[in-house]
Amino acid sequence: MNNSVVNLIVEALQDKLKSTGLERKYPNRVLRGDIVEILDDYCTVVYYPLKDDNNGFHRIVKSNGENIHFVFINTAQTIDKQVFTAAHELGHLWNIDKIVLDKLDEKTKNELGPDASENIINRFAAELMMPKVEFSTCFLAFLQDTKDCYPEISVLNLLKTIVHLMDRFLVPFKAVLWRLNELGYLSSEDTEYIKREYESKNGIIYPLVDQYIEQFGYRELNANFEKKYINGFAEILAEAERRNTLSPEKIKQLREAFCISSESLSDNELPSNKIVLKENAINGKDSSN
Ligand SMILES: [Zn+2]
Repeated sequence: MNNSVVNLIVEALQDKLKSTGLERKYPNRVLRGDIVEILDDYCTVVYYPLKDDNNGFHRIVKSNGENIHFVFINTAQTIDKQVFTAAHELGHLWNIDKIVLDKLDEKTKNELGPDASENIINRFAAELMMPKVEFSTCFLAFLQDTKDCYPEISVLNLLKTIVHLMDRFLVPFKAVLWRLNELGYLSSEDTEYIKREYESKNGIIYPLVDQYIEQFGYRELNANFEKKYINGFAEILAEAERRNTLSPEKIKQLREAFCISSESLSDNELPSNKIVLKENAINGKDSSN
């Protein structure tokens, strides 16, 4: 990707982090799973496990003249894939492709080809989840641990390094591989070679990566937890039940699908439903006595 396009993507990302206040809220630029929480602020996220290859998608539904944004995240995929999907969909919600394309001349736009939007959004996701400085610092530190003589590195040590980076940034194998290429550490030929071997059915790279994940104890990478959740959905169903806007069968079906108990979860049923926090602690004074 042309340098001027990359600069515009990074600029759009920095602008968004500033204008949304996320820069202050997440001073640690390595977001990992926080991205999912961020996405929740911009749309209704439907978390559901589906046994197919679809990682997720974004839909706009018109309701009373208003655009309501939905993002679906397939929680049957491993967490690292869910994280990258969330970052990708945030790029769509923030219209990063449009912001960047509007600033390009016709010639550069044409060079980007028919997949321009998706390529811009994928690069945005990489810049968001694997910021250049933090990623390079980690990569060079892990590289030093391999004791290989830089710039030459054995394929096995490169794979181990990629697995460490996957864990550090909670992103998929191929995302790390592309990032190493984007930042100029890996040639396009070597990147293609590793990618081909990783994707090959009888290749040894895929099982090796899996083995390293297991050996290094990076359990989070292979987990999926099959989350079934929509923020506020239990309350919406309870409201629909009260107002009779959905049939009891439909409500039952949706509750079962999202593991929502039919008991109303109102805190009014607790003997006491308010807790008063100690004022001294809120004001930063020692209140241990
Ligand atoms: Zn997309």
